[in-house]
Amino acid sequence: MNKLNKTEKIKTTCRSCHGGCGVILTLENNKVVKIQPDQDSPLNQGRICPKGLAALEILYHPDRLRYPMKRLGKRG
Ligand code: SF4
Repeated sequence: MNKLNKTEKIKTTCRSCHGGCGVILTLENNKVVKIQPDQDSPLNQGRICPKGLAALEILYHPDRLRYPMKRLGKRG
């Protein structure tokens, strides 16, 4: 099977806080590989904070919770 590398850019908003700054995501084979500030966003005007840049690490961190934690046994 021939595996094609597909790259695309998507304009969206960061939701790492309540701000909603404009960002452009670069996806390779449906995986986000880069986050850049959107130069056209009237809110952040081409800037991005460290938390917004770290969103990629949060998204793919191996220790990220992927399901709700359920307590086994009694509290405490
Ligand atoms: S880039 Fe920073 S300030 Fe903007 S929404 Fe994301 S976390 Fe909030």
